[in-house]
Amino acid sequence: MTDDGHELIRQVRQRLESLRRAGVEAMPRPSVRAAAVVTVRPPIAPPPAPVPEPSPLPVMEPEPVALPVPEPPVLVPESVSEASVVVPVPVSAVGSLFDEPGFETPPVPASERLGVLETAAAEVARCKRCPHLAVTRTQTVYGTGSPNARLMFIGEAPGADEDRLGQPFVGRAGQLLTDMITKGMGLRREDVYIANILKCRPPDNRTPTPEEAANCSSYLERQIAVVRPEFLCLLGKTAAMGILGVDPMSSLGRLRGRWHRHSGIKTLVTYHPSYLLRNPAAKKDAWEDLQLLMKEMGLAIPGRKRGASE
Ligand code: SF4
Repeated sequence: MTDDGHELIRQVRQRLESLRRAGVEAMPRPSVRAAAVVTVRPPIAPPPAPVPEPSPLPVMEPEPVALPVPEPPVLVPESVSEASVVVPVPVSAVGSLFDEPGFETPPVPASERLGVLETAAAEVARCKRCPHLAVTRTQTVYGTGSPNARLMFIGEAPGADEDRLGQPFVGRAGQLLTDMITKGMGLRREDVYIANILKCRPPDNRTPTPEEAANCSSYLERQIAVVRPEFLCLLGKTAAMGILGVDPMSSLGRLRGRWHRHSGIKTLVTYHPSYLLRNPAAKKDAWEDLQLLMKEMGLAIPGRKRGASE
């Protein structure tokens, strides 16, 4: 043992002897807890997760997107009393813009067309969209002729005779139109369909206003859609404006003599019979228009054999 050791032992005995003299019989044993040396180690951080190798992004196939199918519009009638029942057309029945003809409603079977037109005529008879005309008319003038006609004539509006009899083109102008159909084209009047832009007579036989024509247009479009003719012949500028939407300032002379299209239907413009009665010199042009129409319809032109070279 070293000197330091002996010195330490001597000091401890000396201290214990002084404690014994002071009355201390025993020394408390040191607790294990107090004696223990607690070593607090910092938590060992887990090894970093392996970083995956960057990989190319997977190619995401686009989810098929269901396009919303628009609800067919429900047309709200102006009033219950004059309600025209418009049945929404299934989207599947709507033709494309490239269909011929371009109607938005499915065709009415030939056997049902007369009934559909009669029902529509009854609805028109209650119409008051133009209140001033509804109170001055004797009756509405819907249309007449074959519901399966290949050719439909469209005039302007009823006159006094038409207002009284409820039939279109029954006055002097009507007689001339009948001659054009029968003597000129070799058809019967009942083979074609005849209607007007307006179903009510304007007072004093004035020209229909654009607002009146717009009010009445759905009725005429319905007639065209039901009859679904191959050809339209528009009599006068009011009919041309109502069906083709031509500028009011455009000359009828520049509209006639050539083909137009309405809802895919071959459409011709010529003079109104009333104008021909006032301007007989224009009958020559009107006859040229009818020949153009007859040729396209495959009808024999008087004095020529069908199919003969023109
Ligand atoms: S002209 Fe046509 S829209 Fe006007 S009240 Fe007569 S039927 Fe109705």
